[in-house]
Amino acid sequence: MYSDVQKDDLKRRNADMSRVKPVEEDYGKPLTPERLDEMIQRVTGWALLNGAQRKITATEFRERVEPVAITLFPSILPVDVLRKAKSLQTSFQTLIYKVANDHEFMKECFSGLLSVDAFTKQLWDIYETVTNEGPAQEVSFTITRNDFMMESTEEDGAKQDCKQVEINTFAASGCGVANSMVDVHRYSLSLQDFPFEEEQLPENNSIDGLAQGLVKAWQLYKNKRAVILFVVEPCTPDHRWLERGVYRLDRSIKVIYRTFPQLIIQMSFGENRKLIVDGAEVAVVYYRYGYAPKHYPTDAEFKLRLGMERSRAIKCPTVAVHLAGCKKIQQVLAEPGVLERFIDDTDVIKDIRSTFVGLYRLDAKDSSKIITQAIQTPERFVLKPQREGGGSNLFGDDLRNYLEEIKESPERSAWILMDRIQATRHRNRLIRAGLGSECRNVVSELGIFGFHISTPTSELENIECGYLIRTKPEEANEGGLCKGLSCLDTPFLV
Ligand code: ADP
Ligand code: MG
Repeated sequence: MYSDVQKDDLKRRNADMSRVKPVEEDYGKPLTPERLDEMIQRVTGWALLNGAQRKITATEFRERVEPVAITLFPSILPVDVLRKAKSLQTSFQTLIYKVANDHEFMKECFSGLLSVDAFTKQLWDIYETVTNEGPAQEVSFTITRNDFMMESTEEDGAKQDCKQVEINTFAASGCGVANSMVDVHRYSLSLQDFPFEEEQLPENNSIDGLAQGLVKAWQLYKNKRAVILFVVEPCTPDHRWLERGVYRLDRSIKVIYRTFPQLIIQMSFGENRKLIVDGAEVAVVYYRYGYAPKHYPTDAEFKLRLGMERSRAIKCPTVAVHLAGCKKIQQVLAEPGVLERFIDDTDVIKDIRSTFVGLYRLDAKDSSKIITQAIQTPERFVLKPQREGGGSNLFGDDLRNYLEEIKESPERSAWILMDRIQATRHRNRLIRAGLGSECRNVVSELGIFGFHISTPTSELENIECGYLIRTKPEEANEGGLCKGLSCLDTPFLV
C-alpha cells in the first residue's frame, strides 16, 4: 500500500519520465530494458549482500528485511565540496560544545519559545534541573551528522558549494548502511565497464569511527564491567552496525538494548547516582530514541529521561547538547556577530558562515517583512519547528497557510524560517521498493558524521568520521531513508 506522499510521487514520476534521459548513458552505455532489469537485480542483490537493508516488519522472534532504497549509480560530486564539508566537521562540533556549555546563551535562545512549545519546555526543564544540580558525570559524548545540500555557484553548475540543512546531535542515523554503498556502486560501474579510480568512490569509515567514539567514552567511565546501553525503538536495525563496530574493537564490552517502556520498569540507581539496568551498571547511554513528543506519551517517559540525565552514566548526548542541536540555535548562530561569541579564528568563522543560507526568527521587531515575503513566495522558504526525525517542516501552500495563521500569535516564536536551498539537480535511477526504478531528476544531501568527547572545561576528542549521501527526486520536499523516499547513494568525485 502506498502512502499519500508516495502516491503523489508516483503521479509526478509518470509525468516526469518522458523528460529524463537515461542515466546509463553517462555511465558507459545505454541498456536494453532486459539488460537494465538484470542490472537492477544484480545491483540490489549486491546491496543486500553488503547489508544495505531496512527492516520492514518485526515480531519478537522474526524480522523481515528488504534492500534499502538505493540509486543505481553513484552521483557526481565535486571533490572540493566533500573536502570542505569534512574539514568543517570538527569546527562545527566545537561550536555545538561551546553552545551547550553557555547557559546564558541557551537561555537567550530558548526563552521566547518555551511558553509555546510544550515538548521543548519539558526538555528544558530537565536541562535546568541537571544544570542547577551540577553534573554527576563530567564527561559528555556526542555523535553528530551535519547535513548539507549542494548549490551551484555558477550558471552551468560546474562549481558547487555546500549549504547546511541542519546539524543532528541526537540519534543521528544511517552510518551503517552508508558504509555498504561504496562497494555497491563500484560494482554497478564495473557491470557497465565504466572506468574509475578507486578514490573517486571514497571509502567510508563512519561505523569504525563512531564505534571508536563509543569505546573511548566507555573507557573514560573506568569500570570494565559496566555496559553500553542503546536506548532504541523496537524496529530499526541501523545501530546494530555500531554494536558490531564496538564488538570488533573490544569484545569485552557488553552492549544492551532497551526501549523506554522496558527502562521504566528495569532502571534503578546505585550509590553515587550509578545508573543500573537489570542489575548491570551503565557506562554510556546511547540514545537512538527520545527525540519526538510521541516518544513521551506520559510523564513517566520524561521522568525516565530526567533519571538518566541525572545519573553518573555518560550520555550520548547530554540534554544540553540535544537542545544545542535545535533549529532555533542554528537560526541564532546565523545572526550577525554570534559565531564570534564562540570562535576566535576569523577564517573558520568565514568558512562556517559560507555554509549558511538565510535563517530568520519570526518574533523580531522587523519580522513582518520576511513573513510577508514568505507568504508571497513560499516556494523560496522552509518553515521549521523544533522537531527532529522528518515530516515536521512546512513547504509551499502549507507554509503559506500556516504562516498566515500564526503570524500575529506568540506561537510563531516556536518556528524558524529558512531559505530553501536551490540544490543542484542531476540525474540518477532510483530503485525504491514498490516504486519502480525510474530515471529521475534528483538532488542529493550530504551528511558528515563525527564524534566529540569533552568535559565542561576541555575537549578530549574531536573527530570527523565518514559520510552519508541520500538522493531524492528534485520535487520532493523531504526525503527520509526509513520511509523509503530517499535513496542511499555514493559520491562519484570529480
Ligand atoms: P529533520 O530534523 O526533521 O530531519 P531537517 O531540517 O533535516 O529536519 O529537514 C528535513 C528535510 O527537509 C531535509 O533532509 C531536506 O531534504 C529538506 N530540507 C530542510 N531544510 C531545507 C532547506 N532549507 N532547503 C531545502 N530543503 C530542505
Ligand atoms: Mg534532518
